[in-house]
Amino acid sequence: MEFPSKLIEDAVNEVSKLPGIGKKTALRLVLHLLKRDEEQTKSLAETLIAMRSKVKHCRKCHNLSDHDLCGICASHKRDRSLICVVEDTRDVLAIENTAQYKGMYHVLGGIISPVEGVGPSDLKIESLIDRLRHPDSDAVKEIILALSPTMEGDTTAFYLQKKLKGFSVKISTIARGVPIGGDLEYADEVTLGRSILSRITYE
Ligand SMILES: [Zn+2]
Repeated sequence: MEFPSKLIEDAVNEVSKLPGIGKKTALRLVLHLLKRDEEQTKSLAETLIAMRSKVKHCRKCHNLSDHDLCGICASHKRDRSLICVVEDTRDVLAIENTAQYKGMYHVLGGIISPVEGVGPSDLKIESLIDRLRHPDSDAVKEIILALSPTMEGDTTAFYLQKKLKGFSVKISTIARGVPIGGDLEYADEVTLGRSILSRITYE
């Protein structure tokens, strides 16, 4: 692709590094930004910079948050006896959208995947165990494994179940209303909500 400007070329290259965006789409977006008010484009850039530098992981559940403690962990309205273990923040959003779950979360930051070189030590598993181990922590009665119904999700669930065995907590898994091989975030809200309510004991 021949560009009339080096600056436009640089912008197109940066935008096309985003997932799902090819060079053509990147060019369309860049030209759109050039057409818009300069102030609007500036505001977009500033928003992205602020988001990137200020968003952090909740120190308790590792969900993304503007504060040390996320809104869910800080809330007094949540049921602290339940922890729902998920792969990433998108799953928290999907489950919150169902409005069927009022417990806490624990975001692993991925799932065990030998193919991609992700092992248990790359995930927030120790901090989950810490939440059960510390006497000052919430009295957790149940851990709900809400992982994708894939081989990696199953491997992760099996590993967690072994690690959690020594604690007196019930371990359950969400009912498989979610399509096999599908991501949690793509399951429709009704199905996902129902699968959380009708969870089954992990065996
Ligand atoms: Zn949190």
